[in-house]
Amino acid sequence: MSMPQPPHIALFPSAGMGHLMPFLRLAAMLAKQGSIVTLITGQPTVSIAESDHISSFLRHNPKINHLELQLTPSFRQADSPLVDPFFQQMHLINQSTNLLPPLLSSSSPPFSAIFVDFLVVAKVAPVAKSLDLPIYVLATSSVSFVSVMAYLPVLASNPVEFNKTYPEVKIPGLPPMAIHLLTSIIITNSPALSEAKGILMNTFEWFEASTLAALNKDRAIKSLPPILPIGPLQPYHVPHDDDRDQYKSWLENQPAESVVYISFGSRTAMSRDQIQELEKGLEKTGWRFFWVLKTSKVDKDDQEDAEHLLNEAFLEKTKNNGLVIKGWVEQQEILGHPAIGGFLSHCGWNSVMEAALQGVPMLAWPQHGLGLWERNWDWGPNGIVKGEEIEKKIVELMTDKKLKGRAKKVREEARKAVGRGGSSDTVIREVIESLIIP
Ligand code: UDP
Ligand code: UDP
Repeated sequence: MSMPQPPHIALFPSAGMGHLMPFLRLAAMLAKQGSIVTLITGQPTVSIAESDHISSFLRHNPKINHLELQLTPSFRQADSPLVDPFFQQMHLINQSTNLLPPLLSSSSPPFSAIFVDFLVVAKVAPVAKSLDLPIYVLATSSVSFVSVMAYLPVLASNPVEFNKTYPEVKIPGLPPMAIHLLTSIIITNSPALSEAKGILMNTFEWFEASTLAALNKDRAIKSLPPILPIGPLQPYHVPHDDDRDQYKSWLENQPAESVVYISFGSRTAMSRDQIQELEKGLEKTGWRFFWVLKTSKVDKDDQEDAEHLLNEAFLEKTKNNGLVIKGWVEQQEILGHPAIGGFLSHCGWNSVMEAALQGVPMLAWPQHGLGLWERNWDWGPNGIVKGEEIEKKIVELMTDKKLKGRAKKVREEARKAVGRGGSSDTVIREVIESLIIP
């Protein structure tokens, strides 16, 4: 009798760090549990952060294989409505999926399954089917958002109703064009969700219990396969590199829970006017702060030093209690540092799950969350949030004892979920087991 063979799993993320990060974390977890893993990425990437993370990840995980999908920029037009380079890249990746069959079918040992980003599932599902390869989707958002995405085609199937309500759909932080684009992406990919064996998600049972119950137990959307909560996905280990030292030693010297960590993810730029207001707010609160400042969507374009973007008087007054960093930081590690007492965030889903794992209260600007949400705070040209408002909310974030207690409870539940025998741990083990070749 032959020994059971570990599954060989292909992982195929879409563009941007918010998508790459959960895929790398999943890859590391699958490999640790004995699966053979092959990462498929579109090349070249948009940001330096993506190419750096892919190469350092592969360097430190030599057993993980890498296949590159060479992208041909056939329709990169400066005046195309696809001005967002990450969306443009996502389109390119979708257009290049015809290159997948030879990559997938020539692999040895043969693939047992492919885990793909929601944003490519419509294109990959037929390829997987033709190769008789089970497909799982990794959706990089909340279960609530998957529910919205899965339900959108249902709404759109009644065009009269949909067109009536459609102009009312406002997504905070996205200009109207992006809403159209996003809607079309969702409507393209959502129907293909039914081709998947399951939807893996960076969330956990306790955190989204009622939405999970509606979709999994009550089968509120009949076409959806099981939603499989496997998070919070844990950071993979990368050995030390030097440029973290400047902020690590700064953090070491701050008292426990005294610092507000401020970051709006990997691709959200802040306007000059908004920077000024944030400066005012930070100066007034007197709380210590660690601010990751971004002024361009893509990191390559973000050239200016923090000193040039910030007010001299602000820098002088806050030099003893604040740190401003331009460039990549190890966010998960920072959130885990005892000095951090709160997180002002745009609430990208990865950030939310990282804060959950570390029990850090969040001040959401502007979305869902694990903490406070100031519903009136906008991004961009329609509204600048004033320094006084920011000040007030930061004080609340840093002093509200109940909020701290709730965040600690979230951490406890998050850790339970990913611990041995926890809900998320059990789900991923079952998926892997189902793919083992007897
Ligand atoms: N991130 C980081 N350092 C940075 C900026 C971002 O480690 O300087 C990580 C962050 O921890 C998260 C991901 O990049 O894992 C960003 O994903 P998220 O969903 O929070 O936001 P997005 O960047 O997609 O808007
Ligand atoms: N999105 C999502 N799940 C996915 C892919 C995208 O929820 O699998 C959402 C995402 O949260 C965001 C939008 O689609 O609201 C655009 O995605 P992108 O990653 O480009 O934006 P970001 O998360 O960086 O803001």
